[in-house]
Amino acid sequence: MRGVGGNSLRRTSRCLANVAQRAPFCSRPTHAVPWPRANAHGSSPAAAAASSSSSPDGATTSSSSSISSPGTHTASSSASPVLEIPTTVGPPPPAPGPGVMVAYYADHWKVPLPEGHRFPMLKYAATRSALAGDGSLEGRLALRPASPAALEDLALVHCPQYVERFRLDAMTEPEMRNVGFPWSPQLVGRTFSSCGGTVAATHLVLQQGWGIAGNIAGGTHHAFRDRGEGFCVFNDIAVASRVAIRDYGLDSILVLDLDVHQGNGTADIFADEPRVTTFDMFGDKNYPWKSRRVNTYGLPLPDHTGDDEYLGLLRSWLPRLLAQHRPQLIMFQAGVDALKGDSFGRLGLSRAGLLARNNLVYGSALEAGVPLVVTMGGGYTRPMDASVTCHTDVYRTAAYRLSAWAAAAEQRQQQQQQGTARGRAEEAGRGQSAEAAVAAAAAASGQQ
Ligand SMILES: [Zn+2]
Repeated sequence: MRGVGGNSLRRTSRCLANVAQRAPFCSRPTHAVPWPRANAHGSSPAAAAASSSSSPDGATTSSSSSISSPGTHTASSSASPVLEIPTTVGPPPPAPGPGVMVAYYADHWKVPLPEGHRFPMLKYAATRSALAGDGSLEGRLALRPASPAALEDLALVHCPQYVERFRLDAMTEPEMRNVGFPWSPQLVGRTFSSCGGTVAATHLVLQQGWGIAGNIAGGTHHAFRDRGEGFCVFNDIAVASRVAIRDYGLDSILVLDLDVHQGNGTADIFADEPRVTTFDMFGDKNYPWKSRRVNTYGLPLPDHTGDDEYLGLLRSWLPRLLAQHRPQLIMFQAGVDALKGDSFGRLGLSRAGLLARNNLVYGSALEAGVPLVVTMGGGYTRPMDASVTCHTDVYRTAAYRLSAWAAAAEQRQQQQQQGTARGRAEEAGRGQSAEAAVAAAAAASGQQ
């Protein structure tokens, strides 16, 4: 059943029309906003975006690391303390090789939070750091800093006035309270870049036509068209899906939301969009309560649901979803807050269960030949180590699966080529035999 969120498309059009009358900012090529403070490294955010030598937690990552260095798809090359948010952003450079998974990150923006804030902001940096330090990912994973999402891409989903009010610190106090973060310029940079990473990953897999790309951020599925909640400001999954429809003409996208919280914002935004199917498995007694929306397929799960029950459901649903909707793109919200002991979740999955979940999703997408984008989502264990381990698993498993799939595909191709060459040789041999037989027959007839 489709959602009860109302006619979001019609509302978006109306909002855009209003904004065009009052503040036609989308007609400008770029928006340079005075940027009052440098980031935690003391350099400009833009310079930090371009830098790859410093890990987010301050530890140094060798630039000669086996992990591919970040690409040139950076926020800005300007050293001046301004954040330039482009109206449009071109497609990112392709993956460095077949079977190499590209994962974007946005933790080069150091977001200041009050002491004791319940959101584990450092988990993004810790996850990237764990991936960057994993030698087994050599040649399998390339980490790239994400650029800010373009205004015209954001406007496919969000009311431009909302985007602008957030950017310029013009949100009301209750609005920011619903989001859950205090406003800061760094939060703006991170939020735009988090969304930009998912959009870039989407371009990448759709240009390839297959494979997996990721964002070590995003999955901000509680963001609505003109408001945010639950630590989400912009809905990266919705924006990237709209970009996929606009730029690649897709008519079937599957949002696979396996975060423990319902993706209410995504469900609301796509309530009247038949080209996007939202499948959501979430804890029934978890937030959101008042703002819950109806997914295309929503599976509310009881407290303490464990591996067997969870995986059984996913195993039965995935083939049906792929067969019925034949998606051309899967947007995987891979939150790990279904882990037992998560401080915001109420389910009881183990790390092994989440690993099996990831493998199931990646294997299904690769076998079906459907490009997949993986985003980070929630994970709130205290301390955060268990969540970081599970988040790291999400990307490591994706890189392994993609790499193995590409190697197998190459092997199949070689076998096919060898088979074709052998067939041609045999055919040629048969031809020679036939010619020889004709010549022999001619000779025999001549003798007679
Ligand atoms: Zn969550």
